[in-house]
Amino acid sequence: MAEKIVLPASVEGQAIENAVQRCILAECGAAYGIRERIYVCSRCGGPLEIEIGSVPAAKRGAELRKLWAARAASHDPRDISGVWRYRELLPFEDGAAVVTLLEGHTPLYDAPRSAEYCGLAHLRLKHQGCNPTGSFKDTGMTAAITQAVLLGARTAVCASTGNTAASLAAYAARSGLQAAILLPYGQVSAAKLAQSLDYGAAVCEIEGNFDDCMCLIQELGDDPAIYVANSINPFRIEGQKTVAFELMEQCEWRVPDHVVVPGGNMGNSTALGKGFQELLALGLIDRLPKLQVVQAEGAAPLARLFAALTPGDLRGGAHLPSRMATVENPSTLATAIKIGAPVSWQKSLRAVVGSGGSILSVTEQEIADAKAIIGRDGIGCEPASATTVAGMKKLVAAGRVRREESVVGVLTGHVLKDPDYVSRYHHGTLAIGEKNGAASRPIASTFANVPERVAASKAAILENLARRR
Ligand SMILES: [Zn+2]
Repeated sequence: MAEKIVLPASVEGQAIENAVQRCILAECGAAYGIRERIYVCSRCGGPLEIEIGSVPAAKRGAELRKLWAARAASHDPRDISGVWRYRELLPFEDGAAVVTLLEGHTPLYDAPRSAEYCGLAHLRLKHQGCNPTGSFKDTGMTAAITQAVLLGARTAVCASTGNTAASLAAYAARSGLQAAILLPYGQVSAAKLAQSLDYGAAVCEIEGNFDDCMCLIQELGDDPAIYVANSINPFRIEGQKTVAFELMEQCEWRVPDHVVVPGGNMGNSTALGKGFQELLALGLIDRLPKLQVVQAEGAAPLARLFAALTPGDLRGGAHLPSRMATVENPSTLATAIKIGAPVSWQKSLRAVVGSGGSILSVTEQEIADAKAIIGRDGIGCEPASATTVAGMKKLVAAGRVRREESVVGVLTGHVLKDPDYVSRYHHGTLAIGEKNGAASRPIASTFANVPERVAASKAAILENLARRR
């Protein structure tokens, strides 16, 4: 893919000229116009991705870096947005009316306790949960809803475990579009659903699981008034890829050895991979970080597929599998990645293999403990995000990541996305399995922080605090 990227004609112009939507399947490779309302290849049904247009060779690396850095002082909403400030590499015209909630600009934290827990000298965590609706989805949704408005859609629809829904609802509200949200009934944290309701979305609770919702969405996509903003939507990937650009600015353009991300629908790893690839092709970085994708054990179809790849598959990457065995009834308390049939698995696999990274899975216990450790760094995240630290601990223990290597973990959602989980962990009542049934498996609260009853006196409080110091 890298060699197809050419630089924009003017640094102030966007990479829109010659931009196409391209089928990613090597045997097809069909190209479609950038404003064509399609979500998969019309010829073969394969996934699409955006190929950005041309930018002149004279404006490589340093020029773009300078331009992006200069925008830090600007008050133009597009410059304040951590997505649109990189608009040279986004498939929109210069004057396009963007739908923004000033997403991006998320912090990159040092996480010393998490580093120690993993067995690393240093670990940095990029907190995408600090976006307007509390998850990384916002960086992609700003691009997708901007495209929906350009196409004249009336309703934007998605199927979601929660974070995508909240994001879609907010951006649709911002743009005046109707948001329609299909959710698996009873499988979504109340906090997440509350957000979508507050933003005015039409929420449809479907009797089925997430994958059933995905099928229905594909049918709805035939209606010309409806715009599908699911993970399958290549414009969301375009917005999300800017996380790679922002991260590299924050790293002062020194490429980390590893970037670790949770794996659910695989849009996040796909987007990061694409972002880094484009930076490499444009001469802004000189190598790729290894992408490490971490799934929850009960929803890990791609980790299983990856484990079965041969060294030849990993070296060449040209003949990666065209099929993946899905997980019928995915199971994890990390609801944001409870997905048995991830839509972006092919793109993600290609990005991971191309970077020399890997895809692995971690247990519910490992996720819960890692989450508590991240909290001790003063950083709150939702359960799915903690797969990054859990996965890194596993990679270090296996000798696949060395102590001194530089690692960035991407946290995908805010701690308040699932406060019930947090409370249960610390109170020792977290469990996975049958609801209210004997079949449920308890999660040990290894790093529990339990509230204690203390007498109503200064002396008692001081004694208690001293004991817990
Ligand atoms: Zn195709």
